[in-house]
Amino acid sequence: MRGALPVLTFRTMTAPLVDPFQRAIRYLRLSVTDRCDFRCVYCMSENMTFLPKKELLTLEELDRLCSAFIGLGVEKLRITGGEPLVRRDIMTFFRAMTRHLDSGALKELTLTTNGSQLGRFAGDLYDAGVRRVNVSLDTLKEDKFKEITRWGRLPQVLSGIDAAQAAGLRVKLNAVALKGENEDELFTLTEFCAARGLDLTWIEVMPMGDIGNEDRLDQYWSLKDLRARLAEQYTVTDLAENSGGPARYVRLEETGQKIGFITPLSHNFCESCNRVRVTCTGEIYTCLGQEGHSDLRGPLRASDDDAVLRDAIRAAIALKPKGHDFDYSRGVGGQVSRHMSHTGG
Ligand code: SAM
Ligand code: SF4
Repeated sequence: MRGALPVLTFRTMTAPLVDPFQRAIRYLRLSVTDRCDFRCVYCMSENMTFLPKKELLTLEELDRLCSAFIGLGVEKLRITGGEPLVRRDIMTFFRAMTRHLDSGALKELTLTTNGSQLGRFAGDLYDAGVRRVNVSLDTLKEDKFKEITRWGRLPQVLSGIDAAQAAGLRVKLNAVALKGENEDELFTLTEFCAARGLDLTWIEVMPMGDIGNEDRLDQYWSLKDLRARLAEQYTVTDLAENSGGPARYVRLEETGQKIGFITPLSHNFCESCNRVRVTCTGEIYTCLGQEGHSDLRGPLRASDDDAVLRDAIRAAIALKPKGHDFDYSRGVGGQVSRHMSHTGG
């Protein structure tokens, strides 16, 4: 029996993460801060209370955590927030992750950003091994941008996108489809992306967090309708491509552009969901649309031994639910109380 022990230990260290529904977990989305320099109307209330610093995982803890996940087979790491690029010294963390890209264990290091700080950091991100970034941009009108983000400035984001492209980063725009807000910009945003060689993905607004006086149902513009309107001007071909996530893709034949649709309210992606999310306080959410989560900060801080952390990660993955529970048709049902900036979009 004794002789078998080291083998067993090795297996627990390296066996890939598989959830109860036989989905291999290969993708980690990590929020590195709950703070942001914008206050988007669908994401935050104007007066947000942010977490005290001691609640946040330190940069060293973020490194240990990601390294543990990568050791367990995670191949794709997306950094998000809040606004990831407003976290102090965040480039130290990105540079630390380069070693996992160099070793080949990590296949992709990427981030989702509002673009406001790309002018400062695009070159550093490229040097750290980032090759693609998602920039969230819902409108090309300066006054509308101010209305939606409350605190943001459009020219700063546009020059951030320029800086990212100049640094060699591939940029995808994520636009939240907002009824009565950016409906009239469907074609201008499409043309803007075509002209600059940007990918474009539309996201349906999700019922997450208290956003003050705003009403989700007022904000909701169905992507089915959006797609139908696109088809009035373009030949829209469905693509079979599936990223394992909630996005579905079409090609516009006239421009050759690929357009993505993220419809979290449909259940079309749960079966192949390969991702988990960790918040900046070390809570792991194995489903964006469920309240269930487990704590990884306790195990991280309890011991320097990564075996404790790995056990906690495995225990959390064992609780990953089959699917989410968003549903506007049930009124308040399906609402998730935390903000998107907490879990990371
Ligand atoms: N600050 C960064 C940004 O804006 O890209 C990263 C974090 S943000 C929470 C990530 C994504 O979530 C953004 O594309 C944002 O538009 C989206 N988002 C935030 N709240 C949302 C909601 N209620 N429904 C749908 N998407 C939302
Ligand atoms: Fe900030 Fe991103 Fe939320 Fe807008 S969507 S408030 S940029 S975290």
